[in-house]
Amino acid sequence: MKKIIILFVISGFLLFLISAKEIKNKTLINKNTDSFKNICNYKDELKYRYLNYYKKHKELPKEKIVTYVNIGLDKKFYTITAPTPHLNKDYILVNKYLYLNNDYVPNNLVNLDNKYSKNGIKLVKSAKDMFEKMYNDAIKDGYKIRIMSSYRSYDYQTYLYNKYKKEDGIKEADMCSARPGYSEHQTGLCIDIDDGKTSYEQFNQSPSYIWMINNSYKYGYIERYPKGKENITGYKYEPWHYRYVGIDIAKFIHDNKITFDEYYSKYIK
Ligand SMILES: [Zn+2]
Repeated sequence: MKKIIILFVISGFLLFLISAKEIKNKTLINKNTDSFKNICNYKDELKYRYLNYYKKHKELPKEKIVTYVNIGLDKKFYTITAPTPHLNKDYILVNKYLYLNNDYVPNNLVNLDNKYSKNGIKLVKSAKDMFEKMYNDAIKDGYKIRIMSSYRSYDYQTYLYNKYKKEDGIKEADMCSARPGYSEHQTGLCIDIDDGKTSYEQFNQSPSYIWMINNSYKYGYIERYPKGKENITGYKYEPWHYRYVGIDIAKFIHDNKITFDEYYSKYIK
């Protein structure tokens, strides 16, 4: 009888210790997640992911933790994916987390005049009109820009990605080419450009590149995969690739030196 009482007391004490620890842990988690709650783009359903990412990246301010986790950066590229919303909007986002279906073709795709590009290139009308304006103003300033590639269908992207994968392996292909459905080129809102003299890969050495960096935002275009932001965009630096997002968003991104992925996480619902 005595033994039973002792056992009972001990197990009661152990249960008390366990629940006290649980309460302490919960309080600690709540206290830590509470510190994210005032951040404008905080999402309650992601609070544990914020906390886990913060444990690994204590050097980052909490605003960045929230933005990066909202983008999906706490998970590997292509591991948590969803169809992208805001189809046919200038602010549609396509990256390594948000994709377009294989039958998506943007509305208002129009042909570009040969004056501005290689033959048979298509762009969404809003992006085309602003490109033409930008092109003509660049010429007035003494600089040339020319479109080498713009809208690409899902099927063409499949062909391109498989080609890179075969030539360079999957790791290298993923850094320079998008998997089918994940290419921004399928939106019809982005362009690869050169200056008509040197290869597009050396566009950053062209005076036209400096003109673009200083002026493209005035026409709604941003450098989409900038140097030093590879960990956010998931792509190597691509000085030739510009994305049309509209003038207001482009100006904000330019002035704040952020990526479109970060802007979208913060301001697009
Ligand atoms: Zn491109």
